[in-house]
Amino acid sequence: MDKNKEAEPKAVTTKAPTVDGVNKPGVETGPGTRTSAEEVAREQFNMVADYIGLGDDLRKYLLVPQRELCVNFPVKMDDGAMRIFTGFRVHHNTAKGPTKGGIRYHPDVTLDECRALAMWMTWKCALMNLPYGGAKGGVIIDPDDLSRDELERMTRRYAAEISLLIGPERDIPAPDVGTNAQIMAWIMDTYSMHRGYSIPAVITGKPVAVGGTVGREYATGLGVTYITRAILRQRMGRALEDVTVAVQGFGNVGSWTARAMHERGARVVAVSDRSGGVYNGGGLDLRQLLRHVAETKTVTGFANADSLTNAELLELPVDVLVPAAMEGQITRENAGRVRAKILAEGANGPTTPEADCILEDKGVLVIPDILCNAGGVVVSYFEWVQGLQSCLLDENEVRRQMERKLLDNLDVVMGICAQRECTMRMAAYVTAVERVVEAIHVRGFYP
Ligand code: NAD
Repeated sequence: MDKNKEAEPKAVTTKAPTVDGVNKPGVETGPGTRTSAEEVAREQFNMVADYIGLGDDLRKYLLVPQRELCVNFPVKMDDGAMRIFTGFRVHHNTAKGPTKGGIRYHPDVTLDECRALAMWMTWKCALMNLPYGGAKGGVIIDPDDLSRDELERMTRRYAAEISLLIGPERDIPAPDVGTNAQIMAWIMDTYSMHRGYSIPAVITGKPVAVGGTVGREYATGLGVTYITRAILRQRMGRALEDVTVAVQGFGNVGSWTARAMHERGARVVAVSDRSGGVYNGGGLDLRQLLRHVAETKTVTGFANADSLTNAELLELPVDVLVPAAMEGQITRENAGRVRAKILAEGANGPTTPEADCILEDKGVLVIPDILCNAGGVVVSYFEWVQGLQSCLLDENEVRRQMERKLLDNLDVVMGICAQRECTMRMAAYVTAVERVVEAIHVRGFYP
């Protein structure tokens, strides 16, 4: 894997999705239906709460974030003008420890979306047995609209504003849509400058040069691959070498998933980004495609492939479909047309509850986000521990420990699926919510 990639600002590609049949995040495209990510997260939680018979008090407690911060702050633009930006940081729950969750730069960021993503992080961290609660933050901005200097000034000011909430023992952010290792380095530096010494453990997903860990950049995509490979083997008796794959989104998660699956023999036939997608039934040449993306910042226009829309990609007759872009992509409107056998959720919240039911009826196996894409937060945890203890893990150790943590918790989920005859999403959520509830009970209610 290319370790140097982490230090470079990646091509952030986050314009409002208005082209190419792409769904806006959290929006049902069916007639008259609009479902926000927050509504999806709450509905999923309510279904689990009903399933396990959770009492009303705990249900009310866990349905809302513990704390949320909205910040409006000024930044000097290159032309001397001042622009006001709006950002957020939300902590869903701290019962299991300090909070953990990404920072998103995207024009569609809302407080509601941050609440949903923070809640999903609580469940994901609990499912992985990490000593964290869930958090999320973001700024309403298309980072492509800013120069590098403006992006740095905006990031540093946002970091200063949310330093009320973040800290190595309080809340540890990481990259998400539209942010990258360079942005994490600016946040780490800003936080450290205010305190007068370097505090690498305040953030994860940093460049290795400033205390990041080897293996973090590709961890989410590699984790999606490990989990999908294990499920293919266990549930279908198939190997990655025998399957076709389509990936929606070609940023951090999507591109590394495509790469990791391709390197292990899978035939990646289609990929897309917000501008559209490319398809080659014989398999895309990933090496050439990555070169094309490095030059043009998009997968579209790649030679040796046909073009297709994001909507068409989701409906391809492939073995494995990996949504790795935004929330709300598989809805009640298009779920009936999904022809994949496995839906491996690289993104957070790509499938609405209504779509889940349709997919279950069709026999599509959904690997839920809080399990499927957890490799990123697992390796972020390793990075945090290395930062706190000033120790270093080597790359093999990071991969080995990540794989073990993912597969151990996959076993727990599969055990619950078999025992309770439920979907993988329900089994993953039951495990996660019960672990959080246990932590709440053991700690007791203050005062
Ligand atoms: P990214 O910014 O690196 O990449 C996002 C990709 O999605 C880009 O290729 C962009 O062009 C594309 N895209 C954006 N909007 C789209 C749309 N509406 N339709 C199709 N493509 C679209 O972001 P990322 O870090 O890869 O995150 C992708 C998803 O994975 C998000 O849901 C994120 O929360 C989740 N996730 C990320 C990590 C991580 O480690 N980065 C970990 C777990 C989950």
